[in-house]
Amino acid sequence: MHFLCKCGYRFHDSTDCLSYKGRIIADQDWNEFWDCIEELEKPHENSHAIYERIDDLFQLNLYQCPSCGRVFLENPENRSQLIRFTPCLEGEPEPDVNKRLLISSYGEKWKGHLYADWYDNKPEWCDNRGMIYPILNIQLDDLAFDDYESFEKRFYEVFEHLKGLHLISYAILNVNQKRAFRWSEKDNE
Ligand SMILES: [Zn+2]
Repeated sequence: MHFLCKCGYRFHDSTDCLSYKGRIIADQDWNEFWDCIEELEKPHENSHAIYERIDDLFQLNLYQCPSCGRVFLENPENRSQLIRFTPCLEGEPEPDVNKRLLISSYGEKWKGHLYADWYDNKPEWCDNRGMIYPILNIQLDDLAFDDYESFEKRFYEVFEHLKGLHLISYAILNVNQKRAFRWSEKDNE
């Protein structure tokens, strides 16, 4: 989903783990969520159906503009419609609110990921043959490349840098849809 905030900020919801997106569950569904967890703990036949149910319970997305703090909530009756809320204090619009309401429960300690994709033949949906996507608490621009050497060199530079700062928990490099490199903090503990 792509949309524009009233302040001009452009939302792109095309990757995972966005620092300005959350999912909400209705309090009326909370008990059912725990029923699902209980079912998963017991011997069961169909994990897939249970996971699907959990996904449904958390179906509504919420976004907060990192630039002005306005909040957008999907209308459950028409999910392509977003309802906008302006942060107010005593009824007056309050521009100085916390604009990171939707970051992880780990707060600034949340560790992100680094993805990179290279295609020898540029697919239609890409503007470039190589892309590096850092997914972090702080927003970094994606990096685009058209020659493999600079793409690969930059990937390992960014990787070493973010790993050194303890900002990522895993990194993946795909070349022509095949896994060329994978690092995970868990495997290296
Ligand atoms: Zn905004």
